[in-house]
Amino acid sequence: MVKEIQLRVNLIEEHKENVLLYKASKQLGVDKSEISAVKVLRKSIDARKKDTIFNYKVAVYINEDVPEKSAYLFDYKDVSNAKEIHIIGFGPAGMYAALRCIELGYKPVILERGKNVQDRRRDIKAINRDHIVDEDSNYCFGEGGAGTYSDGKLYTRSLKRGDVRRIFENLVFHGATEQILIDAHPHIGTNKLPKIIQNIRENILKFGGEVHFETKVTDFIIKNNKLQAIRLQEGKELPVNSVILATGHSARDIYELLHKKEIRIKAKSFAMGVRVEHPQEIIDKIQYSCTSERDALLPAAAYSLVQQVNNRGVYSFCMCPGGFIVPAATGSGELVVNGMSPSRRNNKFANSGIVVELDIDKDFKKYEHLGELRGLAFQKDLEKIAFLAGGRTQTAPAQRLVDFVDGKLSADLNETSYQPGLKSAPMHSLLPKIIGSRLRKGFAGFGQKMHGYYTNEANIVGVESRTSSPINIPRKENLEHVDIDGLFPCGEGGGYAGGIVSAAMDGERCAEAAVAKL
Ligand SMILES: Cc1cc2nc3c(=O)[nH]c(=O)nc-3n(C[C@H](O)[C@H](O)[C@H](O)COP(=O)(O)OP(=O)(O)OC[C@H]3O[C@@H](n4cnc5c(N)ncnc54)[C@H](O)[C@@H]3O)c2cc1C
Repeated sequence: MVKEIQLRVNLIEEHKENVLLYKASKQLGVDKSEISAVKVLRKSIDARKKDTIFNYKVAVYINEDVPEKSAYLFDYKDVSNAKEIHIIGFGPAGMYAALRCIELGYKPVILERGKNVQDRRRDIKAINRDHIVDEDSNYCFGEGGAGTYSDGKLYTRSLKRGDVRRIFENLVFHGATEQILIDAHPHIGTNKLPKIIQNIRENILKFGGEVHFETKVTDFIIKNNKLQAIRLQEGKELPVNSVILATGHSARDIYELLHKKEIRIKAKSFAMGVRVEHPQEIIDKIQYSCTSERDALLPAAAYSLVQQVNNRGVYSFCMCPGGFIVPAATGSGELVVNGMSPSRRNNKFANSGIVVELDIDKDFKKYEHLGELRGLAFQKDLEKIAFLAGGRTQTAPAQRLVDFVDGKLSADLNETSYQPGLKSAPMHSLLPKIIGSRLRKGFAGFGQKMHGYYTNEANIVGVESRTSSPINIPRKENLEHVDIDGLFPCGEGGGYAGGIVSAAMDGERCAEAAVAKL
């Protein structure tokens, strides 16, 4: 017999061996000797009160063995000689589109402008050390897309858009730890992602798919509203049937190409702001109500904050406990920050984007002449301002948090995880008022919600500009572009995802749609 029950364990109990077995036996009134296993299905930590509680959902196996096999099977077929589906971009959307094509018996041909994970590492190093940004190989472009050197948080709100569990099981199938199936806020970590991504690529190749790195798509050949071929940077033209366009939100050249060719795109609202960095110890003390170091069984504490300021949401985005701020620009002359963390989240800093909701219909009057590219142009301008304020390198402009709110240039800055370094800058006057003034009020409000958060021991670092796509590529109900037959806009770049898992789910759906059209 198998019984699913909830167990509450406090911090002292959590240190004890077999605590779940004891608690399950007591709660069910079953002798321990009759319990063959207690399998954890879900684990979350509730640190809202002084005594931290670990909440478990467990399956208790009474005189019964635990089944070894997952309920999810990934049945990949040899597709070497099957019909081709072209996929542009090998981020989470492109990878999961490719895997789904193989399951359905079609051959994915992937075209990726960046390099494989190993070679990409060198370019990442060059950004951090030499401030050189390769426009095809960086924190956003290359094998695994923006998901590779990311935090690998797998939390998603897009539960209705697909089978989240299937994506998690597939990640485990390709080498992720089973812990991601259990944790309420699963996380892989940037140190583990490259190997999983490499395993996915090897599987695609093993079953007959093709992956072409350093292969940039620069044009679409369209006749009578039907996509006929794609042109590569080197000039070669590839005839195509169905194309999944999964180029992510940083492929600005793709948006500009679509706009130039009068292929319908639509400006959409997005959010922008800064990244804030505290010593992790401060966040731990606030969240776990502890006076000294956090307990060894507790993970680096996270937070999630939101506040309405002048009718707009100001909120934390992509919070990285025990992580690093990274330079996420995709071209020279721009400065963009984002965050990531290793699997153990053991760095001494906690960082998070703090961003302001922008309204595409109200906030970009100055850019209106640019039509659907207006949000993108605003994004670009702010990234340029940050680049100039940082000193025309990847050194980022920064300010102490309270100084920012008080409108005072910081005489010096706190230590940081951001490898290219920080330069003190008047962020309060550099940021457009629509963002800056709301951020200042938002931070002061956050300080009231989390006592100790609003402190000059934190830096704000600019700019967090790529939270989501400023463009939507519209599609029909069958997921094909509204005007162009054979083109399937997909993932974050299309405006259909906001993270690794939602991009992966959209990739699967687009593969199914592309197959249905063939
Ligand atoms: C530093 C960082 C940390 C992040 N942390 C998290 C996190 O913890 N959790 C989370 O859910 N999300 C996180 N994200 C966001 C997440 O990575 C993205 O939402 C996700 O990768 C989007 O997937 P995608 O496949 O749609 O696009 P992308 O991952 O952007 O992939 C697009 C791919 O297309 C390629 N491409 C672009 N143009 C062309 C072209 N013309 N020809 C050929 N190839 C092209 C690019 O090189 C890229 O590899 C993070 C992002 C960054 C940058």
